[in-house]
Amino acid sequence: MSVKQLQEEILKLKKKNDVTILAHYYQSIGIQDIADYLGDSLGLSRIVNEKVTSEYVIFAGVLFMAETASILNQEKHILMPNKNAGCSLADYLTPDLIYKFRKMHPELPVVTYVNSTAAVKAVSDISCTSSNAVNIVQKISHEFNVNKVLFGPDSNLADFVEQKSNIKTIKMPENGHCAVHSQITPKDVFESRKKYSDALVLVHPECIRKVRDLADFAGSTAQMYNRVKNSRSDEKKFIIGTECGMLERMAKDFPEKEFYLLKDEITCFDMKKNNLSQIKYLLNNLDDKDFEVRVPPKIAEQALKPINKMLEFS
Ligand code: SF4
Repeated sequence: MSVKQLQEEILKLKKKNDVTILAHYYQSIGIQDIADYLGDSLGLSRIVNEKVTSEYVIFAGVLFMAETASILNQEKHILMPNKNAGCSLADYLTPDLIYKFRKMHPELPVVTYVNSTAAVKAVSDISCTSSNAVNIVQKISHEFNVNKVLFGPDSNLADFVEQKSNIKTIKMPENGHCAVHSQITPKDVFESRKKYSDALVLVHPECIRKVRDLADFAGSTAQMYNRVKNSRSDEKKFIIGTECGMLERMAKDFPEKEFYLLKDEITCFDMKKNNLSQIKYLLNNLDDKDFEVRVPPKIAEQALKPINKMLEFS
């Protein structure tokens, strides 16, 4: 069956069964095109809360995202096309590691990136995203009257926060990183600038500092998208330093611009574990519990607090 036929069947089934499909910008373009809503991790979870009326939601992303949607919407059925789609960055941080750091620094707030498990969120003081990390760290350190925070699991985002604020971060752990973004090197930036000399380089804060410093812009996926959307008419070419799904989205939405990937392969293989056939299967088997993501109520209740605090501060 062709991609187009699969997409048409999915659209019919989705309507018939009253299911909402959410997709992250890093999904394949075939999935993005059949989604009701597209966005970054937190944006999508908020959509489930504020806009989705259907009882069943298919979340095409990775596990921590579906967990966040479940925490914010305990009454809905959140289904994932492939529950094995995890995140190696989220795996760096555990509740035990947080307890260890809290013991050493009991006066400091624990800030955790939304790219973390529900269990980790449940023992944190506040969550943050790559869009709001600087603002959140500034506000929570002010509330605790300190100039340092415990931050995990992404050490590059922690470093980005330090660069943009006067607040120090103690990284939990020291080397937590996204395997996809941290593989981008300064050499990649030099080489792509040489190839596309008049293009702007946009990278994600999960990239290492040397890469961020060489770029024209460092921001979350949604911020990168908006940077292109609001670009001047003479800004025609962009070199994209994030997952390739984002480039496909922008190329489709802004056909008057040109996009190049910062290096040949910037692919998150976990994000790409979801596919259209699995989505079709789910639409025919909504009650298959193997695909449902439900955070246990006690953990969900605890994890909701740092998320709500972040929303309150945003
Ligand atoms: S791109 Fe990086 S942070 Fe995002 S899901 Fe993949 S491994 Fe995790």
